[in-house]
Amino acid sequence: MASVDPALEREVWARANGTCEYCRMPQACDVLRFQVDHIVARKHGGSTEPSNTALACYACNAFKGPNIAGIDPVSKQVVQLFHPRRDHWGDHFEWHGALLVGRTPSGRATIAVLQINLPQRVAVRRQLIAEGAFRTA
Ligand SMILES: [Zn+2]
Repeated sequence: MASVDPALEREVWARANGTCEYCRMPQACDVLRFQVDHIVARKHGGSTEPSNTALACYACNAFKGPNIAGIDPVSKQVVQLFHPRRDHWGDHFEWHGALLVGRTPSGRATIAVLQINLPQRVAVRRQLIAEGAFRTA
């Protein structure tokens, strides 16, 4: 991945308060460095501007890749992925303990594509919740 302008990177980090804008993991709880995500990947014409960038943990960013859409596991329809700049997180997602549940087709597709409920990721969140380091409310 090409580097992002340091000023933009600082803006993205500050705006997200050091937290993944998809799975809400804080960088302080993750050993892998978070990354500036192009919400709409450059290969689809997405720009490197504040309106098209989000802070993403390594796992979310790696699973998301250049995807901009996914398949809602309930309706089986192709839908756009959650867009951190246009969509409100709480409209699309809710916590059931350490499990993230999609409230909308877009939320469900995003959880599936980004593999946010991979067993090892849920286990890490469960541990962090028990330690008081990860808040779901
Ligand atoms: Zn994440």
